[in-house]
Amino acid sequence: MPLRRLREAGYEPVAWYGNPNIEPAEEYERRRTGFRDFAEDTGLAVIEGSYDPEAFHAAIAGNEGIFPCVEGVSESLEMREQRQERCRRCYRLRFTRLAQTAREQGIRAIATSLSVSPWQFTEVIAEELECAATSLGLVSLFVDYRADYPEATRLSRERGMYRQNYCGCASSRREAELERAARRAARREERHVEHGATETEGTVSRTSALNPQGTRDADG
Ligand code: SF4
Repeated sequence: MPLRRLREAGYEPVAWYGNPNIEPAEEYERRRTGFRDFAEDTGLAVIEGSYDPEAFHAAIAGNEGIFPCVEGVSESLEMREQRQERCRRCYRLRFTRLAQTAREQGIRAIATSLSVSPWQFTEVIAEELECAATSLGLVSLFVDYRADYPEATRLSRERGMYRQNYCGCASSRREAELERAARRAARREERHVEHGATETEGTVSRTSALNPQGTRDADG
């Protein structure tokens, strides 16, 4: 969707693919292959950055914690702030490299498709993109694409594109696992409650059919 919107606005983007945050390496390869196929299908020029996870770990040093956001249980403010700080550093690393590449290539404006995801920190993305752009005399073309998320999801399914189930880093992978486990447990609990209610109703009706007064008559 960001590609379509930029083209509609009269830009012909050059994509920069630089994700040292993605782990493990097999996942990086999977996403890169999917992106290359997409770029080929849509006639998008691509420049690839280096894959050096150690740079990512250095960037987030001290903020590598795991902060799951479990549905139904509000994430504590402290956890949210820690997660946000980790992601801010991750955006900063990638946008700084993006801006450097743009400068080297003589490109005057930078943008990001990250803001299509409702799971990201949109305001932080806007701040970090602006900061990376202005520090090198470039223009930030930040757009909040979240309203396009359902359409982007539909199109990627239609194209049979690889769909990731976590953001990228090892912490986000573990967070997603914990969140999925919490959702499964909540569904099990719901089913258990529903099943328990049905059992109770069944028992009552069977008892009623046999003995409308319950056990009192049987007792004498
Ligand atoms: S959750 Fe995503 S944005 Fe945040 S640090 Fe991990 S890879 Fe980067």
